[in-house]
Amino acid sequence: MSESKSATRHRPETRLVHSGTLRSQFGETSEALFLTQGFVYATAEECEARFKGEDPGFLYSRFSNPDISMFERRMIELEGAESARATATGMAAVTTAILAPLKAGDHVVASKAMFGSCRYVVEDLLPRYGIQSTLVDGLDLDQWKKAIRPNTKTCFLESPTNPTLDVLDIGAIAEIAHQGGARLIVDNVFATPIWQSPLSLGADVVVYSATKHIDGQGRCLGGIILSSEAFISEHIHNFLRQTGPSMSPFNAWILLKGLETLAVRVRAQTETAAKIADVLASHPKITRLIYPGRTDHPQAATVKKQMRSGSTLIGFEVKGGKAGAFRCLNALKIARISNNLGDAKSLVTHPATTTHQRLAPEARAELGISEGFIRFSAGLEHADDLIEDFVQALERV
Ligand SMILES: *Cc1c(COP(=O)(O)O)cnc(C)c1O
Repeated sequence: MSESKSATRHRPETRLVHSGTLRSQFGETSEALFLTQGFVYATAEECEARFKGEDPGFLYSRFSNPDISMFERRMIELEGAESARATATGMAAVTTAILAPLKAGDHVVASKAMFGSCRYVVEDLLPRYGIQSTLVDGLDLDQWKKAIRPNTKTCFLESPTNPTLDVLDIGAIAEIAHQGGARLIVDNVFATPIWQSPLSLGADVVVYSATKHIDGQGRCLGGIILSSEAFISEHIHNFLRQTGPSMSPFNAWILLKGLETLAVRVRAQTETAAKIADVLASHPKITRLIYPGRTDHPQAATVKKQMRSGSTLIGFEVKGGKAGAFRCLNALKIARISNNLGDAKSLVTHPATTTHQRLAPEARAELGISEGFIRFSAGLEHADDLIEDFVQALERV
């Protein structure tokens, strides 16, 4: 196999197409699919050397595989990380990045506004293994400072948050974490690697659900952890190999192809979201609109400081509570009701009854997830068709 030259001196769009490509002796244009569980060795000596780590070849697809390796290398060069490990899902990446380095007696601080399953890991799962956790209002830097204890090892946040699109100051929170001797892990799914680079803002670890924009066409699940070589080799490498939440080679191949078009898709979806946000902002049936690309976003200054553009997502609240929101969702003809995001197809979600239904009503209220709140993920349809669809649907509210 021949390895393509490193593309890190090129711009992100070029890296997304070329980084990490491993070409077989057939010289294929598109990355080949290595749908194999294992590998064979020419000699027993070669096999021994692989197992000792003296020969860098592949061993078994739970450990790695040419497609997984290509996907990791492409993400490493896009994100500007030293190392990465792909996982079966975004939640496998989040759970591993948080859990693998910790032991009983450690402490975690996290922003309370986060993806429902991440909140389960921090709030419910960790304490069962003797790891305490404190949830804070991620926008309030004083709360982060006060929550850090001598045994705090990890701070965790996502920004923009799901689903209310709060934008947390990653640089300031990284500094607070480091002063307390903790690492900062950022779930960068909502921002995408195109619009935000947490490692360059001071974060130590970045995690993605590749299921979202990286696939971007609703086909497969995947995740990835990116960080320093030391973090991966000390905490992640062995944990993933032995516990086995590995990415399938087939999914790695799909996600590699997804990366080729990531920048083009995210840019188009962001432009569409911005146009729709402007229309919704002045609509009489809408009581609240949150879009990180608008100057009326509550953290517009932080957006400007740390993001290269707005978002492919919009949050808004319609009149009439749950009934109003349901009427709007049911009347939409193009945007489909789903709990997913980042897809080529526009998707709408009612967080209070889906992704965040597990939370108590008071916890939802605290996060700003009201009964009339809707999350919209812009797809690749024509913006004007989506706007016409929203205008007719909001007439029903
Ligand atoms: C979807 C999502 C996850 C989980 O990813 P899966 O691939 O579904 O496991 C984690 N964090 C955020 C912010 C997400 O949107």
